[in-house]
Amino acid sequence: MRVLLVEDDRMIGESVRTALRQEGSAVDWVRDGRAASTALATEQFDLVLLDLGLPGRDGLEVLREMRAGKNPTPVIILSARDALRDRVAGLDAGADDYVVKPFELDELTARMRAVVRRRSGRAEPALEIGPIRFDPTTREVTRNGEPVPLSAREYALLEALLARPGAILSRAQLEDRLYGWGEAIESNAVSVYIHQLRQKLGADFIRNVRGVGYFVGRPGTNP
Ligand code: CA
Repeated sequence: MRVLLVEDDRMIGESVRTALRQEGSAVDWVRDGRAASTALATEQFDLVLLDLGLPGRDGLEVLREMRAGKNPTPVIILSARDALRDRVAGLDAGADDYVVKPFELDELTARMRAVVRRRSGRAEPALEIGPIRFDPTTREVTRNGEPVPLSAREYALLEALLARPGAILSRAQLEDRLYGWGEAIESNAVSVYIHQLRQKLGADFIRNVRGVGYFVGRPGTNP
C-alpha cells in the first residue's frame, strides 16, 4: 500500500519508513504540516500516519482540512500527546486510530492492517479468490493450501490488486503502490512482478485488459 508518513522527528520517521518499506509498502515521508496538506491535495494514498506536533501546521489542522474536503483516506495519529482529551480530539477530528509514542512497530503495522481492513468493509482478515488465499495478518499466501513465498514487491503488488477485486488498476497506479517518492522505478517493474506472480499463483490469476491495466477476480465485481 501507499502510505503518507507525516513526521518531523528524524529518528521515528526513519524507523517507520524502513519498517514499512521492508513490508513492501511505498512510503512518502514529509516533515511538516504544510507539505502534508500539499501532498494530500495532489496525490492519493491508502493510509496516512500523522504526527500532531509539526512545524508549519499542526497535525489536527491537517486532519480537519482533509475531512472538511471530503478526503476519506484512513488516518492513524502518531503522537506523544497522551492525554485523554488529545486522543478524543484526534478521533473526533476524523482519525481512524490513535497511537501514543513511543510505540512498537509491530503494533503500528497491526493497527494499519486493521484500519485498512475495516475501511474495505471486510471483517475477516483473510481473502480467498479461487485457489488463492491471502492473509494480510500473517502475510501468508497459499495456493491450494500450499504456501507461496513472495518477495516484498510481489506481495505489495498482489495486495494492491486484492484490495479491490474486479477493479482494473493501471500500470501507473500499480507503480504508485510499489514506489515512494525519490525511489528509482525499475523500468518494466510492474510487468516483471506480474510475470513472477503469474508463475507462482497460476497464469490466469492476474488478468490483463490490454492498454488499460490489470485485475484479479471478475471485472466489475466486488466479492
Ligand atoms: Ca512532532
